Amino acid sequence: MTDEVLVDRIAGKVLERLGRPWVEVEASGRHIHVSRAAADILLGPGVPLTPVADLSQPGQFVCQERLRVVGPKGEFGAVVILGPERPETQVEVSATDALALGLKAPLRLSGDLSGTPGLRLVGPAGQVVLDKGVMVARRHIHMHPDFARRHGLADRQIVSVRVWGERGLTFDQVVIRVSPQFATFMHIDYDEANACGFAKGLVGCIIP
Ligand SMILES: [Zn+2]
Repeated sequence: MTDEVLVDRIAGKVLERLGRPWVEVEASGRHIHVSRAAADILLGPGVPLTPVADLSQPGQFVCQERLRVVGPKGEFGAVVILGPERPETQVEVSATDALALGLKAPLRLSGDLSGTPGLRLVGPAGQVVLDKGVMVARRHIHMHPDFARRHGLADRQIVSVRVWGERGLTFDQVVIRVSPQFATFMHIDYDEANACGFAKGLVGCIIP
C-alpha cells in the first residue's frame, strides 16, 4: 500500500467518525455487456459466459471471454465482457477510447442507450454490428439503501465527491443509484482515474 492510499484510508476513517458519508472509489476500464442474442452470435449458440472474477457489485463478474471492438477510426482487441447477460448489448469506453475509435460517445448512465452510436463487435464465433450502445459512463455511486438512509441520500440525487492525494480533486455531477442489490462503491472511468491519481483503495467524501 502506498502512502497516498494509506492517507486516503485514514481520511475515510476520520470522515466516518465525523459522520460524513464516504465511499470507496473503483475505476472501470473499457468493457462490454452482452445480450444473450449477441452472445449467441459472438460466442456461439447457447455458449455461456465464463466467470473468472467477482466484481464488487453482488452477482456481477468478469468473464474469460474477450471481444474486439471496431470503430470507424480505430479498434481495441481483447475487451473484457462483464456478466451477467443484459437485456441490451452496450460498450462502455472512456472519452479517450471514443476518440481513438472515431466515435462521439455521449455520457450516459448504464442501461440508457438513447442517442448512442454503434460499432462492430468481433468474437470467436462471429460478429455483430451494433446500431447503438457505445457510451462514456456517467460517474456514479452504487449505494445500498441502508447507507442512503443513514446519510439522507436518495436515488438519482446528484452529488459531488472529493478525493485527496497528489492529484486530489472534486468530482461534480456524480449520480447516486440506490438499490438493495448494490454494494456502496463509486465508479469512475480510466480518464477520471488518471486525472485524480487513482490507486486501489481510494476513498472519496460525498458532498450533497
Ligand atoms: Zn458502476
